[in-house]
Amino acid sequence: MGRLTGKRCIVTGAGSGIGRASAIRFAEEGGQVLAVDVNEAGLTETCAQQDGITMMVADVSEETAVAAYVEKCLTLFGGLDVIYANAGISGGAVPMMELTPEHWMKVLQVNLIGPFLAIKHGSPHMIAQGTGSIICTASVAGLRANAGGLPYSASKAGVVSLVQTSANALAGTGVRINAICPGLIETGMTRPTFERARERGTEDRIGQLNPTRRYGVPVEIANAAVFLASDEASYVNGHALPVDGGLSSTLPFVPPRK
Ligand code: NAP
Repeated sequence: MGRLTGKRCIVTGAGSGIGRASAIRFAEEGGQVLAVDVNEAGLTETCAQQDGITMMVADVSEETAVAAYVEKCLTLFGGLDVIYANAGISGGAVPMMELTPEHWMKVLQVNLIGPFLAIKHGSPHMIAQGTGSIICTASVAGLRANAGGLPYSASKAGVVSLVQTSANALAGTGVRINAICPGLIETGMTRPTFERARERGTEDRIGQLNPTRRYGVPVEIANAAVFLASDEASYVNGHALPVDGGLSSTLPFVPPRK
């Protein structure tokens, strides 16, 4: 029996990176999985890699689309036990003085309002059954500066607050909600960083600022999501869990020369 056997799950951003790895891990653990993304080709690839995943193309920042993916899960699986609101965009590295309100709105709409809409439309079904787990992807960028652009970092700090405040708004319902704060993970979003480093021959320097001294891979975030989705995390609620090799534990540190 898998750790998510019997769980009816939605994973967003499942056409790439962390979302794909999570959809695959959820299905490997016995969950029924609805994989949501704007990227149809990416979703097709996710479904090709693992049985037990159904795909749906939807934009997580649009309320009608969120209502539709929740409805699809109910129709397909007869209920909803887990939502992993993971889809996000980086917003690029735009200098502060060149940022526009429109750029801010786009990043906040996907990264922060998207997870809110997942909570708004998903939690009523969980409340009605008295149990459920909601997970949102925040970031170390939401905990400290220098891991992303301004709108991205603010959106991810917002996700941490959204999770804390929603855990309290859902108090006593049986619905848990937590965030994962990944460090640097090799995915579609971070591909340019990795490609630049490989071109320069400096790949071995990526991730050297954290005490684990390497970058992460998507399945390492997916494994944390499996835990939070499962009943093993029954007393974990309102928490923002860094999965970052220890990056967020440290002040800037230059190791002594040997
Ligand atoms: P990724 O490989 O780019 O995957 C994100 C997926 O979400 C892509 O398939 C993307 O489609 C999709 N997406 C974007 N906007 C969407 C929307 N409005 N509706 C539905 N799907 C949408 O990146 P990732 O690194 O796995 O990112 C997953 C989450 O982890 C994000 O929230 C990100 O902020 C967070 N995170 C990542 C890292 C890291 O180092 N990789 C670190 C901290 C946090 P397109 O490719 O077509 O845009």
